[in-house]
Amino acid sequence: MSARPLAIFGGTFDPIHIGHLRAAWEASEALDAEVRIVPAKIPPHRPQPVASATERAAMLRAALAGQDRLALDLRELEREGPSYTFDTLASLRAEIGSERPLVLLIGADAFAGLSEWHRWRELFGLAQMCVLTRPAQIPAMSDELAAEVASRTVGDIARLRAGPAGCVLNMVVSALGISATRIRALLADGREPRWLVPQAVLDDPALLQPYRGAGGKSCGT
Ligand code: ATP
Repeated sequence: MSARPLAIFGGTFDPIHIGHLRAAWEASEALDAEVRIVPAKIPPHRPQPVASATERAAMLRAALAGQDRLALDLRELEREGPSYTFDTLASLRAEIGSERPLVLLIGADAFAGLSEWHRWRELFGLAQMCVLTRPAQIPAMSDELAAEVASRTVGDIARLRAGPAGCVLNMVVSALGISATRIRALLADGREPRWLVPQAVLDDPALLQPYRGAGGKSCGT
């Protein structure tokens, strides 16, 4: 019997929203895994976040309060330089040893771009991959990524839980078409993202302040 998997869910979380939380929650239940949310300090593959690392961590703390399935892991915020997933998985692997399943939870859109990531092929040697489907336009995988994934794809959770690294599992999670981009746009426009972000984040007006614009602009102004 393998040890309980340790899974990480990385991202900018700029801001954290219900789509992130629900996907991580469902994966945690389905895999019976300890899940850690790992915010990136300097995401190498996308524009830099609007809110600072400290502000994003404060939103995450508020969002995660009151439950013990999803924990916060701040190692990328505490590390200098770009937040490479390779470094994060390597440091976790060193902590947990070579046998315990380590799972990278990753949205299908992010996964499609994996072959652009730093030392991407080596990620398969460090962790299992659990690809979370979501209702976004999924970009095609590069040929080299598709070839790598073909022999690694497994159809059931037991296979993922049975080993430390190297497999790819596609997991269907609740289809919540929520994006941080949309939430930033709503806030910049003076609107309230109620029921898109956790209530605890909404309840503290300071938390979403980094995204608020001058207020709702009307036509022609
Ligand atoms: P942005 O709109 O700024 O690109 P985002 O909402 O996609 O942000 P990220 O922080 O970039 O959020 O995403 C972190 C992880 O969460 C990625 O693996 C991404 O695929 C996944 N993710 C984002 N939104 C959802 C959603 N609605 N449902 C499931 N997974 C999601």
